[in-house]
Amino acid sequence: SELPIAAASKRPVSVSFEFFPPKTEKMQQALWDCVQRLEPLAPLFVSVTYGAGGTTRERTHDTVVRIARETKLKPAAHLTCVGHSRGEVDDIARRYWDEGIRHIVALRGDMPDGAPYAAHPDGYAYAVDLVAGLKRIADFEISVAAYPEKHPDAPDAGFDLDNLKRKIDAGASRAISQYFFDPSVFLAFRERCAKAGITVPVLPGILPVTNFAQVQKFSAACGASVPEWMADLFAGLDDDPETRRLVAATVAAEQCRILAAEGVDNFHFYTLNRADLAYAISHILGVRPRA
Ligand code: FAD
Repeated sequence: SELPIAAASKRPVSVSFEFFPPKTEKMQQALWDCVQRLEPLAPLFVSVTYGAGGTTRERTHDTVVRIARETKLKPAAHLTCVGHSRGEVDDIARRYWDEGIRHIVALRGDMPDGAPYAAHPDGYAYAVDLVAGLKRIADFEISVAAYPEKHPDAPDAGFDLDNLKRKIDAGASRAISQYFFDPSVFLAFRERCAKAGITVPVLPGILPVTNFAQVQKFSAACGASVPEWMADLFAGLDDDPETRRLVAATVAAEQCRILAAEGVDNFHFYTLNRADLAYAISHILGVRPRA
């Protein structure tokens, strides 16, 4: 007999990795170390986030272009509607297309100060409008966000699922989920997607948690629930980052193992620009360096 975790790694899975654009020289180096460590795993794609309200416009662009030029990775640029007119967003997209970047993660975004969402008067109001706008510019590959536990602004889960369906009908070919911790949350969502006629891949967003206190704070705002058992696992470790990392790796590996056993074969990792946990969990899932 073998441990379930060993059995899970027998099916071929593919991974993708998300980075954020670095602010300082030191963070730039950290990102680059992370990118180089993960590159041999030949991820399906990597993506670079776009700061709230367009605050990282140039940094996102430069990071995406650098990855495209200096590695074999296929980078996707996140792009949001917030704070830009349609013309500005279209210009950003055209520039990407001209530089050979073909994949956009199209998002509505959030207001920089946590204020209730208000669309730019001349902007794309929602992600669905951005997806349609991008497709008018060029035949981009487009990924969109999905919320297994409902987006906080959505009146109900049905409305939110319809929104996801509309984004796909508008031209998105993949959804990436908000992070979640209880695998059953994602599996139930996957089923609801299938029932709603969503046939594109829906990737689970995996967040290996190393700073539990921070995640607890953040999760309330983005509608991801933090199970009691998780609080329990991290209890007493606030001043023990080393143990927290080991616990984080175990929790995320277990989560992925359960998903893999249920037939999930694509995993998207929120790396926070650190390679170690994403690398280890990919390894456990059977993803190995390619020559
Ligand atoms: P939408 O799909 O537009 O949905 C937003 C809300 O509006 C939902 O509640 C939806 O149900 C509702 N809605 C849709 N249409 C209508 C309508 N016509 N009338 C009323 N309500 C409507 N944020 C960043 O700033 N930068 C990033 O790089 C970034 N990357 C992300 C990556 C992933 C994988 C995920 C899951 C999220 C990311 N976010 C990012 C966060 C995201 O911007 C927020 O969650 C934002 O609040 C919603 O964006 P969305 O694209 O899901 O919006």
